[in-house]
Parts: sequence; structure tokens; C-alpha cells
Amino acid sequence: LKRDYVQRQREEQIIIKDLQKLRDVPCKTTDGFDFALWVNTGLRNDNVQSLRSGAAAVGLFRTEIPFILRSSFPTEDEQVAVYREHLETFAPRPVTMRTLDIGGDKALPYFPIQEENPFLGWRGIRVSLDHPEIFIAQIRAMIRASEGIDCYLRIMLPMVSSIAEVDMARQLIDQCVREVEEEGVVFRRPDIGVMIEVPAAVYQAEALLKRVDFLSVGSNDLVQYMLAVDRNNAQVAGLYQEFHPAVLKALKQVADAAIKAGKGVGICGEMAGNPGAALLLMAMGYQVLSMNSPNLLLVKKVLTSLTLTAAKALLDEVLQLETAQEVKRRTDETLTEAGLGKLIRVRR
Ligand code: PEP
Ligand code: MG
Repeated sequence: LKRDYVQRQREEQIIIKDLQKLRDVPCKTTDGFDFALWVNTGLRNDNVQSLRSGAAAVGLFRTEIPFILRSSFPTEDEQVAVYREHLETFAPRPVTMRTLDIGGDKALPYFPIQEENPFLGWRGIRVSLDHPEIFIAQIRAMIRASEGIDCYLRIMLPMVSSIAEVDMARQLIDQCVREVEEEGVVFRRPDIGVMIEVPAAVYQAEALLKRVDFLSVGSNDLVQYMLAVDRNNAQVAGLYQEFHPAVLKALKQVADAAIKAGKGVGICGEMAGNPGAALLLMAMGYQVLSMNSPNLLLVKKVLTSLTLTAAKALLDEVLQLETAQEVKRRTDETLTEAGLGKLIRVRR
């Protein structure tokens, strides 16, 4: 057994080393379609890894991480320094900064939230809108951080479940833009986007798209809320299924709405870093797949080894299937037939 394990480890090392060759290769399918592979960041250390993976941009900077690492709320100026470092590291690539997403499983030590049911409670945008002073300081800091850098700031709102939240957030953002302009700061206006993490947002994609520049699916939460399965509970981990037919239908609906509206659509949950899922997402029309950097070259290997036509045929087929197990099996078969079977196991 031990020998098998060592052998497998060796094989994986060889695969991972081999993937490095793809670092500077464009992510183009064999029939010539380009896709954007972006990274998720949070810790400073992620930045180095991200640049090494050849990421085209940042699809999700989890700004709550620098907040969590402190013992009190950072001031606006302290936030400017953190965001500026991030923008400078990746300039001129786009950087998508998500506003504070605390609550649920993400607690700030200096801002305790006591709730019976935290995943259905005071989370993400809800906290920001109840504390506009926190939100305003963060938006102002993001905009000020972009001054004088050839960068592309995108601001993204987490855990949106109603249009009113987006309207309220946009009003505050517009106010911040006006204020900072009046202070004489010169900057490029940020794109604004909404995360699709709650089933209600799937069904309101069209209305959301009228108000923002892009949508980004947070599949970690969307799967959790669609299937009523706690994403961190090992007891029900087997029920947490990214390939669940209902999840795939929801993802397709979001992509269709964005394409119809001519707006950008991406995904930044773990699902984007799953080679088989990435194939299906590409076929649905997701233009941006944002993932943890260790999976980026793995996904690139898959997307650059197949045609978009084949991916679309697979998608048509799996959308007719009725269980997650069947979808997964059919997707794995497609990867194996293309000589990519070994990659399924290497995913981090
Ligand atoms: C998600 O929910 O998919 C997501 C990207 O956000 P987080 O994992 O930080 O909740
Ligand atoms: Mg989330």
C-alpha cells in the first residue's frame, strides 16, 4: 500500500512539473476559443503563487482575510495600503475586490456575531449595509488605492439576495466615487459586480444585470444554499454535489442571462478549479473561471486539450441526466477518453 502511495505521489509530481510548461501558454481550446483563467487571493502569500501560475487576473480578492488577521478594524488609510499593494502586484491585470464578507463561518475576532443560525443570518452585504460607515470606508479605500496605477479595479458584492441591496450598495458606491473625485483623486471608475451565491439571485439575474457590469457565481455558497448542505459539515459532505443537475441548471440560467444582456459572467467558487466542472462551465459560456492558484494549470491543461464543440456536446448530454453521480461519471469518462484521466486525481 505504501509503495502504491509513493508511486502515485511520484506520478503526481511528474504531472505537476509537466504542467509548468503551460504557464505562459494562452488558454485556448484546440478549436481556437480563448478563456480567461483568473485566481482567488486573500493572503499575501497567494500573490506570489498566483503570479507563478500565470494567472491572467484576480477574480476574487477576499478582503475579509486581511481584516481577520488584525485585532481591530483597519482604518481607511490602512486599507488603502493593503489594496494598493494588491493592485500594484497584479497591474495592469484586473483585480476583483470583494467587499467584506463576514458572518457565517468567517468571524472577525473584534466584531463578534452571536446567532443561532449564522449561515442564514447576518452575512456579507447585509452587515455592510447595516454598517454603511464600514462599507463606505472600504469602497473609498479601494478607489483611493487605484490612484496613479495603471490598474483595473472591479468591486464585487457578496451574498446578495435582493435587488434593494444592490440599489442601496450602488448608491453608496456612487456617493464614494463623487466624494473621492471632489477630493481631487484621479482614478478609473471601477466596474461593479454581484456574486450569485443565493438561489434568489439566480432567478433575478436579469434584474441584477440591469444594475451592474458583471456577475460572478460563488459556487461554494450557491451549492450550499441550493442543496441545503453545510459546506463545512463532514457528516453531509457526500450530499455537497457540484455536479447536481439542479446546480447545473442554475449555472446555465445565470450564464444565459448574462450573455443575453451582453455583460460579463464568471465563477469564483471551488467548482471553477475542478477540471471536469471547468469544461462544463466553459461550454455554458462562462468567460472567466477564477480559482485557487494550485489548480490553474490543471484546468488550463484540460481546456487547451479539447475543443469547445466537444465540451458543448458533453454539456448537452449531461443536462439530460438526472443524478450528480451520472454527470460526474460522464464528465470523467470524457476526460479519460481525451487522455486526461490522471488529472482528475491531482486536483487540490
Ligand atoms: C463562494 O461562495 O463560492 C465564494 C467564492 O465565496 P467564499 O468561498 O469566500 O464564501
Ligand atoms: Mg461565498
